[in-house]
Amino acid sequence: QAKQVARGDFRFFKPEANERAHRWLALEGRLRRALEQETLHLVFQPLVDARTLRPTGFETLLRWTLEEHGPVSPGEFIPMAEETGLIIPMGEWVLRKACQQAARWRAQTGHCYRMAVNVSPIQITGSDFVATVRTSLRRTGLPAECLELEITERMLLGGQRRVLQSLQALRDLGVGLSLDDFGTGYSALSYLRQMPFSVLKIDRSFVQGAAAGPRGEQLLCSIIGMAQGLGLRVVAEGVETEAQVALLQREGCDLLQGYHFARPMAAEAVTRLLQGPERP
Ligand code: C2E
Ligand code: MG
Ligand code: MG
Ligand code: MG
Repeated sequence: QAKQVARGDFRFFKPEANERAHRWLALEGRLRRALEQETLHLVFQPLVDARTLRPTGFETLLRWTLEEHGPVSPGEFIPMAEETGLIIPMGEWVLRKACQQAARWRAQTGHCYRMAVNVSPIQITGSDFVATVRTSLRRTGLPAECLELEITERMLLGGQRRVLQSLQALRDLGVGLSLDDFGTGYSALSYLRQMPFSVLKIDRSFVQGAAAGPRGEQLLCSIIGMAQGLGLRVVAEGVETEAQVALLQREGCDLLQGYHFARPMAAEAVTRLLQGPERP
């Protein structure tokens, strides 16, 4: 368990000496309490249609703020939640809250904005995840078509039968499945052959790498072309500049997400956006 800390990516606590395990437990306890007391919260980042540049959906991102330290990044606490199993109740909470919010925006606007929710493969293998999704949809009245689950390729357990069956069952429900952070893992191409994804999200390193030279640009264009050839919708992550927008539009990327359009924002800010004159 303490390996994560030893790896040094746990910047919250300086990984010094043998206090690591103790600190790990302390932090885990706080994360557990944060979940119980609902002091975690969600923010939402728009995904815009590449042609109209209007939001068609939102990605749900989890936030945890400690009074004395400020925000702890999900890159730090998600791996801990995964190692301790806390990711399962936490993921259920995120899913329920995200579906509630999406249902609210749908009721307010009459429009089905797609709500994307990040899912850890541990949720899929370690619980009856399909039942959890079905229950969330039923309780909130959100149509399955309005929900998209993002699974990062770094974490997928290659070809596991159980994962495959669950993903297929989710597709049968009508839920969308995105392969997140495409290009950063090891066996993404075989996942694309085996697993029923509907969306490919190109990792931001490829979007940003396109500016570095012709090889970077060719690589980005090839990924988009491949995804299109497979009949997948393509999302570009980490879009920060006008030049990236122009290139991605020219190449026929479907959806764009990044600071150029909007940072992840509070639900109330999205509600105002959707009510404003500029609404989609
Ligand atoms: P992700 O799913 O790939 O989410 C996109 C990340 O990129 C978010 O970081 C977002 O804030 C950031 N981002 C968006 N636009 C830009 C941009 O233009 N430039 C740059 N540099 N970054 C941008 P965040 O919120 O820190 O989340 C990090 C990762 O933590 C996520 O990556 C996801 O894998 C994980 N995560 C976040 N929330 C959850 C959750 O509820 N459940 C699970 N299992 N994982 C989560
Ligand atoms: Mg994601
Ligand atoms: Mg991503
Ligand atoms: Mg990413």
